[in-house]
Amino acid sequence: MRTEDFSTIEQAVKTSTAPAEIVAAFNELTATRAQLNKLGEAESYYLKAMNCPHHHRIFAAEPRSYRDLPLRLAEYGCCYRYEQSGELFGLMRVRSLNMNDAHIYCTEDQFAAEFRAVNDMYLKYFKIFGLEKYQMRFSTHSKEGLGKKYVDEPALWLKTEDMVRRVLQESGINYVEVANEAAFYGPKIDVQVWSAIGREFTIATNQVDFAVPAKFGLTYRDKDNSNKTPLCIHRAPLGTHERFIGFLIEHYAGNFPLWLAPDQVRVMTLNDDAALINYAQPIVNELRANMVRVDADFSATPFKAKIADAEKLRVHTMLIIGGKDMEADAVSVRLHHGGPQGAKPKAEVVADILAKIRERRG
Ligand SMILES: [Zn+2]
Repeated sequence: MRTEDFSTIEQAVKTSTAPAEIVAAFNELTATRAQLNKLGEAESYYLKAMNCPHHHRIFAAEPRSYRDLPLRLAEYGCCYRYEQSGELFGLMRVRSLNMNDAHIYCTEDQFAAEFRAVNDMYLKYFKIFGLEKYQMRFSTHSKEGLGKKYVDEPALWLKTEDMVRRVLQESGINYVEVANEAAFYGPKIDVQVWSAIGREFTIATNQVDFAVPAKFGLTYRDKDNSNKTPLCIHRAPLGTHERFIGFLIEHYAGNFPLWLAPDQVRVMTLNDDAALINYAQPIVNELRANMVRVDADFSATPFKAKIADAEKLRVHTMLIIGGKDMEADAVSVRLHHGGPQGAKPKAEVVADILAKIRERRG
C-alpha cells in the first residue's frame, strides 16, 4: 500500500467516518506494519527494478582475470516497475515482469564474436516462433547529445558503434541505423517484429555498455597484469516473458502450434460407455507420461457439444473414440481449425503427436 493511501485511511478511521470493517482492517494492518517495521531493523527488502546492477555486483564479487572472460550471467529475472494505472496494458505492460536477461562481460577482442552469438540467438528464436518479418534497429549517438543524453566519451562511442556496425554487416542481418536514439551508456539494437497479422512489436533489445562497468568499478586483470574495464552486452532476446506471451497470442491469433498450445490434446469418447473409457484412458495415460498437456472428456454430454467445447478452448488436437475406433485399435483425429483428419492406428497417432512436439512442428 502506498503511504498516501495509508494516510487517507488513517484519517478516515480517526475521524470515525470509516465503516466498522474498514476500522477493523486498518487496525490489523497497523499491527502488521508495526511487525514489519521491527523486522526492518534487521534487514530491508527492495523490489528489483532491473537486473543489470545485480549482475554487475556478482561480477565484482570476486577478482576476475582475462581468463574468466567472456563471463555470461543469465537470469529469468523478476523485476517490478510502478507503471501508472493508465499505462498498464494487458500482458504488454505490467508491474511485475520476468525478463529473460543476460549480461556478457567481455574484452574488446571478444566483443565481435559475443555480439554475433547474441544476434544468432535472436535469429534462432525467430525461426522457432515462425517470425518471418523482423528488423534490427541500430541506434547510435549524436555529437550534440554528448554529455547530456549520452556519456561524454566521443572516441568510445565511435569505436563501439563501428564494432556493432561491422558485426551487423558481416552477418547479413536486416537492419536500419537510426542516429540519436542510443541508450545513455552505449549503442543499442531493438528488434522489431511483425506478427502474423501484421502488427509491429519491439520484443528484444541488445545493448552495448562501455560506461556503466567503469562506474561500478568492474575490472579484470589483463595478461600484462594491468586492470582493465570489461565491455558489457545487455541482452534480452525475448524481452519480458509477459510481453512475449502477449505477442505470441496475437502472432498465432490464439491458435498456438501443438508444441506451444496450453491444451495440446483432449481425448474424447463418443459417450460414457465403460468399454470406450477403458480403451481411452490408457491413451491419456501414455500421453501424460510423455509430458503432453492432455485432458479427457469421457462424459455423457452430447458429442457435438464436447467438440464445440474443445474447439472453443482451442485445444490443438482432439482424439475422438467411438465403437469403430475401438474395434480397429484406432482413434479419430480432429484438429482445431483443421477439422476431422480421419481414423488412424492408435500407436501411430500417439507417436506422431510426440514427434511433432519434440520437433516443434504442427
Ligand atoms: Zn542490463
